[in-house]
Amino acid sequence: MQHFPIFLSVKDQTIVLVGGGEAALAKLRLLTKTEARIVVYATEPHADLVRLDAEGKIKLVNREFDYGDARGARRVYAATEDELIDARIVAIAHDDGVLANVVDNLALSDFITPAIVDRDPVTVAIGTEGAAPVLARAIKADLEERLPSNLGMLARLGKAFRHAADALPMGRKRRDFWADYYFNEGPHVAARGEDAVNDTLGALLDKHIMSGEEAGRVDLVGAGPGDPELLTLKARKALDKADVVIYDRLVAPEILELARREAIMINAGKEGFGASTAQDDINAMIVEHALDGHHVVRLKAGDPTVFGRLDEEIEAIEAAGIAYAIVPGITAASAAVAQIGQSLTKRERNASVRLLTGHDMKGFCDHDWRTLARDGEVAAIYMGKRAARFVQGRLLMHGASPETPVTIIENASRADSRVIATTLGELEPTMTTADLKGPAITFYGLAPRHAAKAIQSISRKEASQ
Ligand code: SAH
Repeated sequence: MQHFPIFLSVKDQTIVLVGGGEAALAKLRLLTKTEARIVVYATEPHADLVRLDAEGKIKLVNREFDYGDARGARRVYAATEDELIDARIVAIAHDDGVLANVVDNLALSDFITPAIVDRDPVTVAIGTEGAAPVLARAIKADLEERLPSNLGMLARLGKAFRHAADALPMGRKRRDFWADYYFNEGPHVAARGEDAVNDTLGALLDKHIMSGEEAGRVDLVGAGPGDPELLTLKARKALDKADVVIYDRLVAPEILELARREAIMINAGKEGFGASTAQDDINAMIVEHALDGHHVVRLKAGDPTVFGRLDEEIEAIEAAGIAYAIVPGITAASAAVAQIGQSLTKRERNASVRLLTGHDMKGFCDHDWRTLARDGEVAAIYMGKRAARFVQGRLLMHGASPETPVTIIENASRADSRVIATTLGELEPTMTTADLKGPAITFYGLAPRHAAKAIQSISRKEASQ
């Protein structure tokens, strides 16, 4: 981020705009929405500027902008549409100790003006650091459509009611009141006008004061394989409401970003072998926060019901008498198989598929190798990096063909994903050579639909190393 977004206080402050033509007028349309004092310097002012001056909306100064003119101003905008003159304006502004912006000139500007969606006092600012104004405009148009036009009124009346709402204890209860207002009751009555909204605020407050203490709850949520777009809507809603998020090491940072900003984020990161936070401690932490009345989101990679030690957590939650729900997620096998363009099951090839783990707490896991070794069987092997040689040895020993396709997918669904197509005979040393850093799933019995492409992507990677 090269530019940091801020909302600058401009009430009763001076903003200087230099220029008398179309560019200056365009900037003014935005600036006159603020409560700033606007001073415009123009040698040949457009008729509209003269009118705005007469209406008292701006102060027009009919001469060149010069040293000392910006002193004490909050910001200077240069909009003369002449690069040399604009550059001089910036120099003067700096000399006066004020930051300057040159319209449509990122290089000369100290700050940039975002695209704005105005539902005053709700303001959405959109910036692309000058990379794609078209994109900013498209996002703006999208938001303009989505945000109800009376949102500004709801926010204004809500703001005036803040003091009254302080009657509710800070935290959960107060937040629930506001959520009820902005997302349920408020939008319903907004069309009936300000009085109706004010009545609703009062009635809602009474209702929330009367309602008892909310009990805590736990959502056991699948975060999916990494791509935030593969989150379920339910998972997003849970993250939106969470007071506490307890997440695993494999949960992608982009997904953690989606949690409610005030939520307490706790890393319960488990490493592949052993645990950095013991399971009992994680169970205790979940229960403790929920008993405090919090909405706890226990966020697990993929689907929480697949190799997630979910049952141990549920037992602890049930023993404490806490309400809970499981929100399924997309498991790594589903994301990975989609990436290689295959199906987990296929008519006349395999009528069942196994989800295996390479190892458990006690070490490498034994499975029904004899059945798996039969032609056409498919298995998705989780946590299979270190177990690769063991799995390979067992399957070959039970008669599987060394030619059986095997595909390793690292970081499925993420931007840095790698697909490595190999065979059972070559699984090791391929796994070791690949030196995988991210989580990986190994498909036994599946090759990428476009094998050539997958192999190409590895050799390109190797060539660049
Ligand atoms: N509950 C998770 C699995 C947890 S076990 C799920 O449903 O996906 C952890 C293992 O999941 C990792 O060792 C790896 O084998 C697999 N895994 C998780 N995310 C992955 C990803 N993005 N790409 C490939 N494998 C992944």
